[in-house]
Amino acid sequence: AGKRWAGEPATADVLAAAPQDPARIRTRFPPEPNGYLHIGHAKSICLNFGLARDYDGVCHMRFDDTNPEKEDQTYVNAILDVVKWLGFDWAGKGGDHLYHASDYFDVMYDAAVRLVKSGDAYVDQQSPDEMRALRGTLTEPGKDSPWRNRPVEESLTLLQEMRDGKHPDGSMALRARIDMASPNINLRDPVLYRIRHAEHHRTGSKWCIYPMYTFAHPIEDALEGITHSICTLEFEDQRPFYDWLLAKLRDNGLFQDPLPHQYEFARLNLSYVITSKRKLAQLVNEGHVSGWDDPRMPTLVGLRRRGYSPEALRLFCDRLGASKSDSWIDYSTLEQALREDLDPKVPRTVAVLRPLKLVITNYPAGQQEVCSAPVHPHHPEQGRREFPFARDLWIEQDDFMEVPVKGFFRLTPGGMVRLKYGYVVKCTGFTKNDAGEITEVQAEYLPDTKSGTPGADSVKVKGNITWIAADAAVAAEFRLYDRLFSDPQPDAGGKDFLTALNPNSVEIVQGYLEPGTVTAAGNQWQVERLGYFVADIVDSTVDHPVINRVTTLKDSWAK
Ligand code: ATP
Ligand code: MG
Ligand code: MG
Repeated sequence: AGKRWAGEPATADVLAAAPQDPARIRTRFPPEPNGYLHIGHAKSICLNFGLARDYDGVCHMRFDDTNPEKEDQTYVNAILDVVKWLGFDWAGKGGDHLYHASDYFDVMYDAAVRLVKSGDAYVDQQSPDEMRALRGTLTEPGKDSPWRNRPVEESLTLLQEMRDGKHPDGSMALRARIDMASPNINLRDPVLYRIRHAEHHRTGSKWCIYPMYTFAHPIEDALEGITHSICTLEFEDQRPFYDWLLAKLRDNGLFQDPLPHQYEFARLNLSYVITSKRKLAQLVNEGHVSGWDDPRMPTLVGLRRRGYSPEALRLFCDRLGASKSDSWIDYSTLEQALREDLDPKVPRTVAVLRPLKLVITNYPAGQQEVCSAPVHPHHPEQGRREFPFARDLWIEQDDFMEVPVKGFFRLTPGGMVRLKYGYVVKCTGFTKNDAGEITEVQAEYLPDTKSGTPGADSVKVKGNITWIAADAAVAAEFRLYDRLFSDPQPDAGGKDFLTALNPNSVEIVQGYLEPGTVTAAGNQWQVERLGYFVADIVDSTVDHPVINRVTTLKDSWAK
């Protein structure tokens, strides 16, 4: 008891920490450290860590680092950081459950040797192209390699030579001996090990042969005592090989029952979003976005910077659940989860994004008075925010129309509107520049109508607009983000996703925030009438606040 494998691999210490109770749920989240995690990974993280939490189990954080050329420690660090940010933890029950597939290279090699000895693997000296040619198709069986029946001793010697670096990349490979006529192409003698004279970010130059993912993954799961190896649906056809391999390694004494099982679930397809690391890398490398953490990117670092909270992402993932049907999730589902999370918890404030001067001509210059509004309308205990009313105010350009369209209830010449939390005002005039643009609007206030006073309701108006006193307003840069793509399935059916880029995915404007708004990086608000906003965690400073719009208050894309 206690040990799940018979060898004495270098990993014994790492695994000694893993508890041995086979009844407990044990899952793993196994990213390859070759890029930044995206919203699709969040689904996998929430599912694996969530199952462990709900069933009193553990979830292993494992780096599937078997592909030396593409992997890097930078990605490892970024992944650990963002999994923690999402709210999950691999420390706990029985130790620190952080693992690296590269720690198991000795065991994997041991497994390979055992398979050769039992006649279940052989070294094939065909080129990759020759192997492909004999693999067959969906309708046609494959053909045996000329090396398929070579003596065990010969394969053992060659495998050792591969390991010792005596052969160049691509000159030979270790293959399983299963069935070249299997209807499942994955069982037609899959490659287990290939030669790669490449430095690994953790094992350096110790190895020049590296295991294939399909060979490595079941071994990683078995070594860690994983009970539920959960992967996306495209691996369904790999399950027979997963089971074949582990049964062989049990029969030849490397592993013991109970063996792990693979379960599949549908990957997340989110409309207007791309979740392929390769394509996301292209967006970064070709400068279509400012980096992996551009607030328009579906990476977790991008979503974090955009203003998505971990709670909102977890709510979104919980709602998705795990199903086997490969459907598309509408982007608005993600935005809705954000609104639901932020609405009860973030304070309110006012902003003017496209300022237009409103002069209250019957209010004395230099005079001020205090107006106030609840910090949060449903939490009176949070108190009230205070801000001045004065003669010169900023309002939104589109809250004034010289010639109102039908149904426009905001400011128009001769019309009345309430300045929210302030007075009812009546528009008395406006000024245009030579270009015909409206540069100023004039109005008179009705002194008895201040919000919160008995006269507030004495004059009924249909419109209610937000405003900020010009002298006190906090200047800020606003980055108004929208969807990165304007096509709901930007990369479906082999389309060139770059042609689907939304040319208006960001608009930068210089506007104002309500005085007193605390713009520390990462602070979030519901900006009245305009949406949810966050102070950018990278670019915002006290002297130059940079405020991202996370999302509007309502789904503006709904038809
Ligand atoms: P990509 O295709 O973007 O490169 P990947 O699947 O190759 O992603 P890994 O680092 O191997 O990236 O993924 C780690 C885990 O995340 C895997 O278990 C994988 O199944 C899961 N995963 C990746 N993309 C999605 C997705 N869109 N929906 C759900 N799970 C996903
Ligand atoms: Mg992968
Ligand atoms: Mg992939």
